[in-house]
Amino acid sequence: MKQKEILLNSLVNGKRIALSDMTAEEIGDNHISTSIETPMRKDAFLLSDAEKMTKIESHFREIMETLGLDLRDDSLKGTPERVAKMYVKEIFSGLDPANKPKVALFENRYQYDQMLVEKDITFYSNCEHHFVPIFGKAHLAYISNGKVIGLSKLNRIVQYFAKRPQVQERFTMQIARELQDVLKTEDVAVIIDAKHLCVSSRGVQDNNAATITSFYGGKFLEESTRQEFLRYVEMKTSY
Ligand SMILES: [Zn+2]
Repeated sequence: MKQKEILLNSLVNGKRIALSDMTAEEIGDNHISTSIETPMRKDAFLLSDAEKMTKIESHFREIMETLGLDLRDDSLKGTPERVAKMYVKEIFSGLDPANKPKVALFENRYQYDQMLVEKDITFYSNCEHHFVPIFGKAHLAYISNGKVIGLSKLNRIVQYFAKRPQVQERFTMQIARELQDVLKTEDVAVIIDAKHLCVSSRGVQDNNAATITSFYGGKFLEESTRQEFLRYVEMKTSY
């Protein structure tokens, strides 16, 4: 089965059914996504960032007031504006393709044709089902086909896709596909090791659970290459 198809359907009472036929209650706390693309409307960018912030500010004020909070309080009165700015300019800024990192490719002058691993990239994202944080580490690898990118770009690609409402499976696939696109190779691997606050701070309140997702493309589908990558990820660094 192709990786993509795993995300499109879900097993409910042993029967595989399309997500589109499921109600929100049936989906419940199952963190399943509908496709590798973040679901966006066609009119997503008709409003400017400033217009979005004005709207979100007023809606968030309404949420707080509905909860019974007194927004005349000095500590609370700036919160709707702060949340609106944080949503648009920071934690959901990766929804806007204009914020996608520009990646320059360099010639691989050293003829380095082995695996390059960038591990322990810290990221902060948010679960699209509960809008609470998902955070953890990303470990990436690729084998150059003649081109290389700056190491900081690997980090920036992770941060860009993290700054969206996410599900971890999609996050993993979006990073992998972007790496394959920019590096012009199938030979990429991605592991995401994350903690979901919707699991630890609410719901089942499991404080120890970690969620691991992975993607292996091209040569990483071979056992020996995959094992080499995993050894580097597990390697303890001494600095
Ligand atoms: Zn969640």
